[in-house]
This record gives sequence, C-alpha cells and structure tokens, in this order.
Amino acid sequence: MPLIAGNWKMYKTVNEAVVFVKELRDLVKGVAGVEIVVAPAFTAVHAVAEAARNTSIGVAAQDVYWEREGAFTGEVSPAMIKEAGAAYAIVGHSERRRLFGETDVIVNRKTLAAIGAGLTPIVCIGETLEERERGEMLAVLDRQIKDGLDQIPAEQIGELVVAYEPVWAIGTGRTATAAQAGEAHAHIRKRLRQWFGADAADHCHILYGGSVKPDNIRELIAEADVDGALVGGASLDVRSFADIVTRSGRPAV
Ligand code: PEP
Repeated sequence: MPLIAGNWKMYKTVNEAVVFVKELRDLVKGVAGVEIVVAPAFTAVHAVAEAARNTSIGVAAQDVYWEREGAFTGEVSPAMIKEAGAAYAIVGHSERRRLFGETDVIVNRKTLAAIGAGLTPIVCIGETLEERERGEMLAVLDRQIKDGLDQIPAEQIGELVVAYEPVWAIGTGRTATAAQAGEAHAHIRKRLRQWFGADAADHCHILYGGSVKPDNIRELIAEADVDGALVGGASLDVRSFADIVTRSGRPAV
C-alpha cells in the first residue's frame, strides 16, 4: 500500500494543525488503499494525534533524539514522541543534515533509538546537486544506507521507511523525473536486498521526496520501486495534500 507523508517543517501552530487534520479527514474519506501520515512540529504532535484518532491518518515527529532521558536541553526522546501519539519519526532530513550538522552516525543513532521505542523511522537519504554532477549519486546513497542503517536487524528493515529525497529537488520546484526517481529507488532496493535480504527489501517502503505535487504524483508512483511520497510544500495546503493522497489510492467501496 502506498504511503503518503506530509512534512510540515516549521509551519502550523497547534490550532492550524488540528484544523488541517479535521479537514483532511473529510477530504480523504472516500479514498482507500493509502497510508497517510502527517508530521507536525513537536508542539502539535499530541493534538494532531488526538484529532486523527480512529482515522487512517498517522502522525510523525520531524526529528527525534537518541537518548531516553537526561540533561539534553531542547531535545525530545523517542518515548516522549510515542507517548504523545506519534507512530513515526522522520530522521536525517536533508535540512537537519545541512543546517544542523547531522551525520550518518547521528542518523544511525536516531534510527536505532526510534526503533527501540517502537516508532517507525522515516530515514531520509539523497544526494546534493554537486554530488550528482560529479557522478557520485550511487556512492552517496550507498554510504547513507550502509552507515545510517548500521546494526539494524534485517527484520526491522522491512518495517522501516526510507525516503529518497534528492537535495536539489527539495523545495526548489525541480522534481526528479519519474525515470530519475525510478533509477535511484531501484538502486536502494537492490542494496537493501544485498545487505539485509529479499524479505527486508521487499517490505521496506521507499518514498520519493522533492517537489511532489498533485500533478506529478501519479507518474512518480507508477515507478515500480516508488512506494509513496514524502511531501513538503504541497502538504501545507489541505486540498493539495488530499489531492496527492487521492491520486495515490483508489475509491473506497
Ligand atoms: C521535504 O522537505 O521533505 C520535501 C520533499 O519538500 P518539498 O516537497 O517542498 O520539495
């Protein structure tokens, strides 16, 4: 089943987030066969989870720390996120890597901690434009997968979500073509199969992220190894996000 996740970044107050979820609930009532996730700021996780209770909408935190508790001012632990009502946590978003210095080692710690607390990590990987132009795309993806998913047992890999987000396509309006996304996704699936086994590779959701919109989702999701999308800008407007969900699913009977 495709998974469509909306990353709201540092947008939406608690009130705005709850209003959004209530509207989304109604707009996607007639859609089946899509797993829907929204990722509000930490402040709104609990309220959004309450508003989404008994619906098909899941909640993700946008980040997570790796320690259980302690003197880590400003950080939020996996158990806190889980108790607030989220089932997912985004890890290693390119904005975290670029603006906050997150490395693959940090991504790995966060991923392991999220799994340990019963959260499903959405692990973001992807090359920059310079890396792509230097012909390093596949090597970058290999490093991010190998180091970011180090020590994760194969049976957990099948449960997690990997988001391929070419950095040059995030928030730029420049989407990867379906063929470019397909090539990267096929490579990621191949590596997961080699390193973690066929079962893990077949069950892991690989999402595409980077300027996904209602008018390009069908083409992207038609690619064999694209299992859904992580949507930034177009997830902020409830109608556009609902359109992306609707175009990824089928009518409910
Ligand atoms: C994102 O931030 O994960 C993202 C894909 O953003 P956008 O859809 O705006 O490119």
